[in-house]
Formats: sequence, C-alpha cells, structure tokens
Amino acid sequence: MFDWLIVGAGFAGSTLAERLAKVRGDRVLVIDKRPHIGGNAYDRHDEAGLLIHQYGPHIFHTNSQAIFDHLSQFTQWRFYEHRVLAMVDGQLLPIPINLDTVNGLYGLSLTEDQVEDFFASRAEPAAEVRTSEDVVVGRVGRDLYEKFFRGYTRKQWGLDPSQLDKSVTARVPVRTNRDDRYFGDTFQFMPLHGYTRMFERMLDHPNIKVMTQTSYQEIRDLVPHRRVIYTGPVDEFFDFRFGKLPYRSLEFKHVTLDQEWFQKVAVVNYPQTEDYTRVTEYKHLTGQSHPKTSLTYEYPRASGDPYYPIPMPKNAELYKQYEALARATPDVWFVGRLATYRYYNMDQVVGQALATFQRIQAGEPATREGAMAAGG
Ligand SMILES: Cc1cc2nc3c(=O)[nH]c(=O)nc-3n(C[C@H](O)[C@H](O)[C@H](O)COP(=O)(O)OP(=O)(O)OC[C@H]3O[C@@H](n4cnc5c(N)ncnc54)[C@H](O)[C@@H]3O)c2cc1C
Repeated sequence: MFDWLIVGAGFAGSTLAERLAKVRGDRVLVIDKRPHIGGNAYDRHDEAGLLIHQYGPHIFHTNSQAIFDHLSQFTQWRFYEHRVLAMVDGQLLPIPINLDTVNGLYGLSLTEDQVEDFFASRAEPAAEVRTSEDVVVGRVGRDLYEKFFRGYTRKQWGLDPSQLDKSVTARVPVRTNRDDRYFGDTFQFMPLHGYTRMFERMLDHPNIKVMTQTSYQEIRDLVPHRRVIYTGPVDEFFDFRFGKLPYRSLEFKHVTLDQEWFQKVAVVNYPQTEDYTRVTEYKHLTGQSHPKTSLTYEYPRASGDPYYPIPMPKNAELYKQYEALARATPDVWFVGRLATYRYYNMDQVVGQALATFQRIQAGEPATREGAMAAGG
C-alpha cells in the first residue's frame, strides 16, 4: 500500500514526493504518462551531445530565498541572466523595451529622462484598462505596440491583444534605462547539470518509486494507495464534465547546426515575420562548449499538449466549476499549473507545492477552502 499516488513528475509532483518521503517517511509512487521525469522542464542531450530543453527554454528565476535554498539541495547552479532580442523592422532590438530599443528603432539618441517624455507623448491611456492592448498602448503608444506586441500576441495566442485579459502583457515591463535583462529577480540561475539531473536527485529516495509511461487512468484502480496528489489537467480528472478547459499549444522544432553559434543571445523573438514566435540557442543558457549548436523554433498551435491556459473571463468561469468539484473531492490534492489552470513559473509551482506540504503536515484535509492554490 502506498501512502501517496502522485500523478505527474514535474516540479509540483517531484517537490511533494521528496518532502513526503524525506520528512514524513511516507511511501510514494510517482507516475507520469510521458517517458521521462521533469514535466515541461525536462532537458536531454540530443544526438550531437548538446543539452536541449524538450519543451522550450526554461529559465529559472525567483525572488524567494526559501525556494532557491530548497532547490539548491538538489543542484548546483550556473549564474545566468536572460537576455532577449526582438527582430523588428530588420533590426535586433532589446525586449523588454528599454532606452536602447527606442533609440535603435527610431535612430534617436535620447537620455533616460527624455525617453520617459517620449513614452508619455506617445501613450494613449484608456479610460478603463481591461485588455492587453489597453496596457501596452496606454504605456508606450500605438507604434511600439504594433511593432513589438500585436503580431507576437496574435501568433502566440491566435487572438488579438484587444481580446486578451490585461494580465497577459501586464507582466512585461517597459524600462527607461539600458537594463536589458529579461527578468529583474534576485536569483537568476540555471541548474548546472540541467533540470533532469536535478529531478533525478529529488526523486532518489528509497521510499519513492517512479513509473513513467504510466497514466493515472490505467493505474488508479490497480495500485492500492491512500491519497492522491494530482498535477495533471483538472478537467481531465473529472472526465471533462463541464467541457474542455481551453489551452494554447506549441510545436517545437529542434535543429542542430554545424556551426559554433547562431545568434547573439539565448532567445530571439519574431513579432513581425515568420510563423514561429521565437528561436532559442541553448548554449547561451547552459554554457556548454561545443563545435555545433542546437536551436528550438516554437510554433504556436490551437491543439496539442496543453501549455498555456487562455486568460479570458469565460475560461476562468469554467475553471471555477472544476475548482468547486476538486474542493469537494476528499483525499485528492490538486497542485501545479494544469490542476489549478494557471500559468505559473517554475518557482511559483515549487512554492505552491511546499505550501501544500505544510498543509498536509498540519493535518488539513484536501477539501479545505484554499487548499488547491496554496502559495501560488
Ligand atoms: C514553452 C514554455 C516555456 C516555459 N518557460 C519557463 C521559464 O523560462 N521559467 C519558468 O519559471 N517557467 C517556465 N515555464 C513554466 C513551467 O514549465 C511550469 O511552471 C512547470 O513546468 C510546472 O510544473 P508542473 O509540475 O505544475 O507541471 P508539468 O511540468 O506540466 O508536469 C505535469 C506532469 O503531469 C503529467 N501528467 C498529466 N496528466 C497525467 C495523467 N493523467 N497521468 C500521468 N501523468 C500525467 C504530464 O505528463 C507532466 O509531465 C514554461 C512553460 C512553457 C510551456
């Protein structure tokens, strides 16, 4: 008899498996329907021996000392600050938009003070900020919005920014200085030997058994277990009773080139041209030395694996129905990005899992109000 059946070996499932086995001495079975652990953060060496991320670039960043310290038990780190360029009007320019973006695009030589006035003179504030378009046009004006955001958003989501909730672009900062880092977090690192190695160390405990290529549906009635931690899609758990929760998917095209470098930074965005949204060159992230280089092209898709919950009010309403069902389901804890239908970064999922562990330790039932999205 297992104390826990944990569905999904990503950050949510693996973080909880480790805590439950190590701190409580519980017996844990972790399953994943994919042929590997690590969930979407899974990385692997390709045929050329280059470390690549199977499901697109994953850059670790957090402001939480506690989360950083927790993960540091399972990996050493490589200092890495993420930088992204966007191909706009034939030029490679920093994104998030900063002083160099504006000067480069318009052939100007503004100072920090002047660029704030520049944004103010172009901005068209909306009476009520509701959509992603309102956020960006209200801050930097229509031209920068069209060039950097509109096309990218339409590709990424298959929707115009005017149809998307303001939260989608609210997280993209605009800077008046020359800071070209993509994230402003205190801790910005990559796991030195990759994510998969880190997950292997997390799950390496005599009380943890891992089965990949195993789905919840095929095993739930076969393996005796007391309680469940479910990190898969919440609508699937309930057999899509109220309909499918909408997701945006991606297709990843991985290529290796017989040249040492392809682009100046890890990620180049294509907001105006091309079918793909961005190209990632992994050696910038991993620091690996190799005569060849591996890249991933990302093509947004309407169907396929669920990657991004689509942030629209009607989808949030549908999720609420599932959330109510989940709260009424005893002995099943719903944790992680798919089970709580939220776009979470890796550190947020670890935080959510650690908070869930605290509630389990405190003896709280899975059905308690707030138990699902704890800490996220
Ligand atoms: C393209 C992309 C880029 C990203 N980049 C970043 C980044 O740079 N930085 C960052 O912090 N975050 C990033 N993220 C977010 C990051 O991937 C998530 O925060 C993290 O993977 C969530 O972990 P999780 O355990 O909740 O889910 P997942 O990693 O998705 O793990 C869930 C697992 O459950 C398994 N599963 C589902 N249903 C079943 C079932 N019925 N039976 C058995 N197994 C099942 C799945 O196979 C999956 O492996 C990115 C996400 C995407 C899509």
